[in-house]
Amino acid sequence: MAVVRLEALRKVYPNGHVAVADASFETADGELLVLVGPSGCGKTTLLRMIAGLESISSGTLRIDGRVVNALPPKDRDIAMVFQNYALYPHMTVAENLGFGLRLRGHPREAVAQRVREVAQVLELEPLLAARPGAMSGGQQQRVALGRAMVRDPKLFLLDEPLSNLDARLRLSTRVEIARLHRRLGASMIYVTHDQIEAMTLGQRIVVLDRGVIQQIDTPMNLYRRPANRFVAGFLGSPAMNFLPGTLHMDHTGTALHGPHGSLALPALALPQAWHGRTVTLGVRPEDLHPVAAATPASMAAQLEVVEPVGNEVFVNLRMGDTPLVARMPPCDLPAPGSVMHVAPAPAQLHFFDADTGARLSG
Ligand code: ATP
Repeated sequence: MAVVRLEALRKVYPNGHVAVADASFETADGELLVLVGPSGCGKTTLLRMIAGLESISSGTLRIDGRVVNALPPKDRDIAMVFQNYALYPHMTVAENLGFGLRLRGHPREAVAQRVREVAQVLELEPLLAARPGAMSGGQQQRVALGRAMVRDPKLFLLDEPLSNLDARLRLSTRVEIARLHRRLGASMIYVTHDQIEAMTLGQRIVVLDRGVIQQIDTPMNLYRRPANRFVAGFLGSPAMNFLPGTLHMDHTGTALHGPHGSLALPALALPQAWHGRTVTLGVRPEDLHPVAAATPASMAAQLEVVEPVGNEVFVNLRMGDTPLVARMPPCDLPAPGSVMHVAPAPAQLHFFDADTGARLSG
């Protein structure tokens, strides 16, 4: 399969907008790498540069060691699957699947054989004679994937391929793609703005914000050790809670002095040099626990809304201007408007520089 290497790849649109700023990374052979970030962060631009559909302003793009900056898309041995499947409505599934091969002059019987193979993998055999208009979104998406697969490309580029599907289909097609990736052993670069999709599908994830790569790592490493406040807030649902304040350390221990008073942070061995530092404390919702009564290590917050999701509840609280979310097993909770005391789990805290947002690690 294919190894893609980006060296300081940059895209400046003619209006001067820097859509991708010096992106560098290398995929592993056969890897499913996800590019994730909010709308407008440059992920589609980056994918289109890899596909050859967008010119490269500067930097070097290599596929399997060969510089391909100027190579036309058709010579890159890449298949791209877009958000809108763009199937030909007047053609059957079989004709849609075989169209690319026929265009390249492959013999009729060879095309039919390859179409049958792909249809079998994607469980599309019963639909080979159907037309796209008579099929569900999920089925159409599988045909779009199949159309990419028939050529047996060395690299698949997928741009938000599930975004037109409803929630249930998105889930099952996501599993389908993961299964397919395992079966084909193909290299895939997958673009999404959906962090759940990124976390569940990606072997590694590239997090982008405003054209700049923020962090590249496995889903769990990104979750456990986000490199900065942006990554910390982007990955995880509900999002991480952030508390501003100044660290205070003395012989009695460590505390965060913030707009909401003093929060003791017991049993933390932070570097002494952090004393007096202005930070943002990050606490994941699952690390914010209710306590029966106020302690120096707890915060008093007003309960606003409880969102039950079945196996757990999201408890939305407010402490002055600061919203807080705690995630806990279903339990009896006080009525909205009541005051609850919650304490962060000391072992799971994240500290970020208040100015730069960079993770502080001791
Ligand atoms: P989305 O998830 O909304 O598709 P994206 O992360 O894929 O967003 P891109 O489509 O890559 O983002 O666009 C990156 C930035 O470049 C955006 O701010 C966009 O407005 C800008 N942009 C895209 N195409 C052009 C263009 N042809 N000329 C100028 N700016 C552009």
